[in-house]
Amino acid sequence: MLLDLDRRTFVAGSAALVSGCATIGTRPSLADCTPLSRVRVDESRVIRTVAGLRPYRRPGFVVRAEALGDKKLVHNYGHGGGGITLSWGSSKLATELGLPGHSGALAVLGAGVMGLSTARLVQEAGLPVTIYTAALPPDTTSNIAGGQFHPYAVFREDAATPEFKAQFTRALDYSWRRFQIMVGDDYGVRWLPTYVATGSPEAKLLETFPPVNRMLRPVEHPFPVDSVLRYDTMYVETGRYLRQMIRDFQVAGGKIEVRRFTTPADLSFLPEKLVFNCTGLGSRELFGDEELRPARGQLAILEPQPEVRYAYTGDGYMFPRPDGIILGGTFELDEWDATPQPNDISRILRVHKAFFDSFRCTA
Ligand SMILES: Cc1cc2nc3c(=O)[nH]c(=O)nc-3n(C[C@H](O)[C@H](O)[C@H](O)COP(=O)(O)OP(=O)(O)OC[C@H]3O[C@@H](n4cnc5c(N)ncnc54)[C@H](O)[C@@H]3O)c2cc1C
Repeated sequence: MLLDLDRRTFVAGSAALVSGCATIGTRPSLADCTPLSRVRVDESRVIRTVAGLRPYRRPGFVVRAEALGDKKLVHNYGHGGGGITLSWGSSKLATELGLPGHSGALAVLGAGVMGLSTARLVQEAGLPVTIYTAALPPDTTSNIAGGQFHPYAVFREDAATPEFKAQFTRALDYSWRRFQIMVGDDYGVRWLPTYVATGSPEAKLLETFPPVNRMLRPVEHPFPVDSVLRYDTMYVETGRYLRQMIRDFQVAGGKIEVRRFTTPADLSFLPEKLVFNCTGLGSRELFGDEELRPARGQLAILEPQPEVRYAYTGDGYMFPRPDGIILGGTFELDEWDATPQPNDISRILRVHKAFFDSFRCTA
């Protein structure tokens, strides 16, 4: 169900989408078209470009407990392109493994979305917690994320076990419900309609998730394609969200210590007996997990356009946020260089410009 694919192919593919092969046979008149605001894609409107390394594992993310000397270590890492989406649910599973029978203070390694969600759940259970981390927001992969609630590229169907898939479903379900109670400006979580060109790999995901989705008739959208699906999901303005999560953590008495661990033996110096490992891609080196690989994603961010109140995914993606219009993207396995590449950014801009210029009608 979840795909290990290359977004470069994706982005290149949308030239075909707008230039003819997927266009509608008999073009409806403007009266047969429901307008949406066009994103104004132009190099002069780019306010920043970013790249981040998704912590990707073909068999899926790791939530597992093990003994390490006199400590209990619970792993919670490797969420690929869906770490924001799965953060609450995966952390819930991790705390269910770690907390029973434990009393007293405990440690969380990492201050990305996974470390912060785990730490908040521990606080909600009434226990004191210290986060130990090499870097804090805004210097985490979680800050780079586009923030769509959608489990994109989390595992490869043929590499995941039935046990993993059951764990994934539980995590997704808890997250889906948890994010809904955080909707609003304080956390920067918002519902938006999302349009997907069917036939795209994303569309496959929608067979089971999210619950509210339906096929549109050409008259119901402005896109130059026959087959479009609409679903409603949440979008997380990641910078604002992580800032608020840190505030919540500190208000509840949480402590943060900036520290990098280089080997598991470093953990023996911690006073806490229970440790949650939420170090994302850092787990590859720290715990020797070679199935964990970087999947680079690059984004071009345009000046905000508040009138754009929908998202688009399929060939690349567009998520409108108050801090900018996010244009993605790429999924580049085993690329370790987390800097935006000018040629890729130009291609992202070119493809999206062609797409939005091809609307049949605009608001
Ligand atoms: C371009 C892009 C777009 C994305 N879009 C989405 C999206 O729309 N929706 C979605 O759900 N997901 C998305 N993701 C995926 C998401 O960003 C990740 O899955 C998620 O951020 C992983 O969170 P994390 O907390 O595990 O890792 P991180 O955010 O990387 O946090 C890891 C933490 O561990 C610390 N750490 C690492 N190693 C050590 C060490 N040795 N010692 C001490 N501390 C250490 C780091 O300093 C950091 O604080 C996107 C990712 C990218 C790159």
